[in-house]
Amino acid sequence: MAHLLVVEDDPQLRGALVRALRDKGHAVATAPTGMAGLDAAVTHRPDLVVLDLGLPDVDGAQVLRMLRAVSDVPVIVATARDEEPEMVAVLGDGADDYIVKPFGAAQLDARVKAVLRRLGAGTEGAEPLRVGGLSVDVAAREVRLDGAPVDLTPREFDLLAHLARRAGQVVSRRELLAEVWHQPLGGADKTVDVHLSWLRRKLGETALAPRYLHTVRTVGVKLSAPDGPTADGAAPDGPGPDDPAPDRPAPDGPL
Ligand code: CA
Repeated sequence: MAHLLVVEDDPQLRGALVRALRDKGHAVATAPTGMAGLDAAVTHRPDLVVLDLGLPDVDGAQVLRMLRAVSDVPVIVATARDEEPEMVAVLGDGADDYIVKPFGAAQLDARVKAVLRRLGAGTEGAEPLRVGGLSVDVAAREVRLDGAPVDLTPREFDLLAHLARRAGQVVSRRELLAEVWHQPLGGADKTVDVHLSWLRRKLGETALAPRYLHTVRTVGVKLSAPDGPTADGAAPDGPGPDDPAPDRPAPDGPL
């Protein structure tokens, strides 16, 4: 079950969506306008938003941009068939998927589940990302360092998870702002640095004595296993820190 927010101005369609999604076991809140939707998204913190593009007050694409400035909540945009150029634009603006009207409840439910699964909510069986003694379980949103749980804020977690997916590579501040903060045009670099310093503290390291988080001056930051032999030799599966395979091209991040 997920907590969903449906932003849709057509009362009949809204009612039908609510009934259908509740039948599928979801908890559903609704908003009839863009501004009410933004408000509800911030107040209720749903797991996912189904956002109509054609809204009476602010168009859905604009709602999405405003929402992205303050929230990472997954968004599925519902569009009419003739709005394809807009659809492409909203995907660029941070929508996670789209669905073309008219659509059935089963299709929407499948897309909701697919988006939540892809983004790691309620995923079964996904292996945690491992970097040295650090384990990042994206599905459960849990981090362990040498087996001990690390308590992170949602943003710290997203930052660490992004770096873990790109382990061993230098990730630029600009990319982090775009991918973790959804600010593709950049923002205050301090945002990244401040969160990195909080993350460092929680991982028990400092900028001067880094273990996992290595700042590359003016370029960005890299997550990698600490140098040298691990204390207990409990290296996880796959190449360990002593087997860097420097010529191997690094895997790309998720699409
Ligand atoms: Ca509409």
